[in-house]
Amino acid sequence: MKLTILGNSGAYPCADGACSGYLLTDNGTGILLDCGTGVVANLQKHLSIQKLSHIIISHIHADHFLDLIPLRYALFRLKSLGIIHRPVIHLPPGGAPQLLSAVSFLENPDFFSEYFHVEEYNPAEGLNISGIDFKFAPVPHYVPSWAISAKKGGKLTFSSDCAPGDTLVDLAAGSDIFLCEALLEKNDDDGSPRGHMTMEEAAAIARKAAVKHLLVSHFWPDSDYSHQLAAAKKIFPGKLEMAELNRSYSV
Ligand SMILES: [Zn+2]
Ligand SMILES: [Zn+2]
Repeated sequence: MKLTILGNSGAYPCADGACSGYLLTDNGTGILLDCGTGVVANLQKHLSIQKLSHIIISHIHADHFLDLIPLRYALFRLKSLGIIHRPVIHLPPGGAPQLLSAVSFLENPDFFSEYFHVEEYNPAEGLNISGIDFKFAPVPHYVPSWAISAKKGGKLTFSSDCAPGDTLVDLAAGSDIFLCEALLEKNDDDGSPRGHMTMEEAAAIARKAAVKHLLVSHFWPDSDYSHQLAAAKKIFPGKLEMAELNRSYSV
């Protein structure tokens, strides 16, 4: 499998960048993990939209799903050119009405379902798409959020947005690539519910899970994380990099 970083920003996209979006390709098929703001623009640098077969959404926050709207218009355009292509959207449990509510002003209940197969995954069952096994684990965030692992030969684990927790350690165990959010510039743990983590916390999880390669992502566009990166490298002994926009990594 090949992983390509389509977006590495959290909350809002950096200049010429995008929010959460990670393309997995295998034998010419594309599976997108998250489709946040700006992802569709970058997707087209790497894969024809007609080759995108599935989109898996980690949680219903705008920086993780909002570009499903322009993607729907791209499919509308293809249809007007005589090309029918209907990818599958896999949403978290309860996600289908939430997605539709994002376009409620259009008063079109078929807005997505006319151009996608819209499904909700069962996290306990996982998914098998083109021989890739996907597993899910609930992770601590402000809304229900699902970390996702993908295994076919190599193993990739994506943290979704989350605070540190053991479910992520278990899901990520032995991953070849662990793609982990590291939004926080400093540990703001004051006992109140948390939804994100620092790079040092991501490194501690990577170490516990004995992953080979930690890629941190989901950054504030206006922040310099070089100090956090240096501190995290003291915690995780393996390969540690900041996920680079438009770069591909083999899993
Ligand atoms: Zn986010
Ligand atoms: Zn979120």
